[in-house]
Amino acid sequence: MFFQPEVETRDPAAQRARDDAALRRQLGYLFDRSPFYAGKLRAAGFGDAAACGGIETLPRLPFTEKDEIRRSQAEAPPFGTHLAADPAALARIYSTSGTTGDPCYMPVTATDLASWIEISSRSYTATGLRRGMRAVSTYNAGPFVAGAALDTIASLGVCHIPVGTGNTQRLIRALQLLKPEALLCTPSYALHLAEVLAERGIAADRLGVRRICVAGEPGGGEAEIRNRLEAAFGARLCEAMGIGDVSISLWGECDAQQGMHFAGGDHVHVELVDPATGEPVEKTDGATGELVYTALTREAVPLLRFRSRDHVVWWNAPCACGRTTPRVRCIGRTDDLVIVRGVNVFPTALRSVVAGFVPQVSGAIMIRPRARGVRQEPPLPVQVELGPGIAPPPGGLAAAIEAAIRTTLVVTAPVTLVPHGSLGRSEYKTKLLDFSDAE
Ligand SMILES: [Zn+2]
Repeated sequence: MFFQPEVETRDPAAQRARDDAALRRQLGYLFDRSPFYAGKLRAAGFGDAAACGGIETLPRLPFTEKDEIRRSQAEAPPFGTHLAADPAALARIYSTSGTTGDPCYMPVTATDLASWIEISSRSYTATGLRRGMRAVSTYNAGPFVAGAALDTIASLGVCHIPVGTGNTQRLIRALQLLKPEALLCTPSYALHLAEVLAERGIAADRLGVRRICVAGEPGGGEAEIRNRLEAAFGARLCEAMGIGDVSISLWGECDAQQGMHFAGGDHVHVELVDPATGEPVEKTDGATGELVYTALTREAVPLLRFRSRDHVVWWNAPCACGRTTPRVRCIGRTDDLVIVRGVNVFPTALRSVVAGFVPQVSGAIMIRPRARGVRQEPPLPVQVELGPGIAPPPGGLAAAIEAAIRTTLVVTAPVTLVPHGSLGRSEYKTKLLDFSDAE
């Protein structure tokens, strides 16, 4: 089922032509309305919108980094010189969650908000939400951009049961008494919930959950995590991904479970670039790179070639669901990357390798680098939590995990096995890197 078949099954060449026209319009808007972009583009040698060209020449235009948006806001508070709409036209002002640095304000016009709801409606429909369904959510999203997801759930006609984070007991009661068919949470929280239900002797697969829609962090696409959650709940798991600055839920996975479909058609154009050089990467099946987004219709705070810091694998091959939109799987974020003597290691990739040892291990890990910063000298110490009831540790387990990490990721990572339950569980995003041992 599609939310907007004409967009989601459109010929990719036709979409590109539409993106080209929309980009040219948007560039005109930027020169007219955005002091930030008019100045930035002129400084880069582009005197007007015509000089910028269209989709073909987009890679010649400069990137936008999150730090520039922060600086723009600091220089011209509260919204920055990148505000392109009349302040009286703003419909809502979100905060960005500020995982790094000071929070930013994210104003949207009514049109921007409607676009976000349209985009995320495509994404959520792909992940299986339907009119009349009951869905329990565990996000405390109100002040943040993700709060607009609440509008989406309502506009889809889904019966929403918001329970928020911080109260697993309340969530379990809601699951038992209200029988929602869908569970919306982070993969970390779904794993935590499955553990708690097992400990309490509650059969998760008898609760009536048929859909687990995960978002907020990578993990839902990892085979071991997906299989474990699907088996525990007797449900199908699909993942979604958004990015606060660009749009809520911009990608959504369909029943074919072969990656998340792009849901931003006509509103957002996406590029794939080499994260090291910034050069375009050809979007072929299996290509990897960083996602770069250009808002095509944004009014309040437009973005041109915004670097997402999300690294993905890309596919165009036709999908069984009939969507013609490209698909991605997130590998990790630049912010989490460690480079061990030239080798890129995403903590989620290391977690995936360790997950191959379930049930001897629980799947929880913590990487504890010995030095601060992205660049590390080997070895890269890692704690691996044992599975429930696995004590003492089976002989040879640590060595077997180390060998698997070395073979798969080409990195030396001495493994310390720690008791079950000793690594923290998260109701939101799991932290996989701990620098407290670093010099
Ligand atoms: Zn599909």
